[in-house]
Amino acid sequence: MAGNNSKIKALADKTYKALSIEFPDSTCSLDYDCPQNLAIRGILSAQCTDKRVNITAIDLFNRFPDMESIASADPEAVAETIKPCGLTASKTKSVMAFAGKMTGEWGGVIPNDVERLMEVPGIGKKIANLIVGEIYGTPAVVVDTHCKRVMKRIGITEYEDPAKVEKDIMKAFPEDQWISIGHLSVDLGRKYCTAKSPKCDECPLSSFCRKRI
Ligand code: SF4
Repeated sequence: MAGNNSKIKALADKTYKALSIEFPDSTCSLDYDCPQNLAIRGILSAQCTDKRVNITAIDLFNRFPDMESIASADPEAVAETIKPCGLTASKTKSVMAFAGKMTGEWGGVIPNDVERLMEVPGIGKKIANLIVGEIYGTPAVVVDTHCKRVMKRIGITEYEDPAKVEKDIMKAFPEDQWISIGHLSVDLGRKYCTAKSPKCDECPLSSFCRKRI
């Protein structure tokens, strides 16, 4: 972690307060109406926009309305449906493996266990954290591209590696903020702290962001 612990915690505190004021309704940007649909959307989200995922997931669930129908589907039919999200072969394998676990070993209940979720091909730490955080409220940080960029720019981390960024965030922010700081980072990254042209003049963190100062 950059700097010493108390300075980083103070920075995290200021960041959290400013972002909570700016984005009072911050929430998960993936739509979902049940846990398994969130997990499937999480799988589809790799290198794809949330907007595209939300549209494609509706097509998928219209065609295959439950986990049984996905698990027993013709892989080519699943692939054809989720193709707009890209990485079609690996996502098809992952979506079907997830549905297979749900209809088999897991008995219809998604485990509140990151390690078990990561047994599904295509579910990495980011998606596993998203699932346990959103569904069970288990404290977990989702380090996506926005979160990584924002946390490095403001000085919470010096790393690019998501596993190291996650550890630095977990040290800087109290546990009860781990889920929401992920959502807030996405909001900031989309509205102000964009990859190419950050709008620092308007950003709520501009008075203390090290990149800005
Ligand atoms: S001040 Fe600029 S670099 Fe810093 S968080 Fe805001 S938009 Fe990003």
